[in-house]
Amino acid sequence: MDTLFTKIINREIPAKIIYEDDQVLAFHDIAPQAPVHFLVVPKKPVRTLNDLTEDDKALAGHILLTAQRLALELGCEEGFRVVMNCNELGGQTVYHIHMHVLGQRQMHWPPG
Ligand code: AMP
Repeated sequence: MDTLFTKIINREIPAKIIYEDDQVLAFHDIAPQAPVHFLVVPKKPVRTLNDLTEDDKALAGHILLTAQRLALELGCEEGFRVVMNCNELGGQTVYHIHMHVLGQRQMHWPPG
């Protein structure tokens, strides 16, 4: 079954899209937790981080480098945070992996 993010990728649900290529889509989070908060989502619908395999190495690197490049383009050169929540205990709510990128405010540790 299609995930929420597959529906965004297929333009069945609207989103504020920042970037797209053959492997990933990036769009602003609907409930931003920082002045800049966007998601980088692979077009391949991998359920959780635990489902990534050796075959996905290049894709995983592409997600990370896309997050870095877009963070800088969106004015986060002073710093930003990337987060990937995995499964229920990790706080995952959408079961289609995605990298959160948050910036333009001071981040704290430990996270909630
Ligand atoms: P997670 O809890 O790590 O699975 O993150 C899911 C994220 O998706 C949350 O930050 C939500 O605010 C975000 N989200 C849910 N629905 C949408 C949507 N339609 N467009 C953009 N972001 C969404």
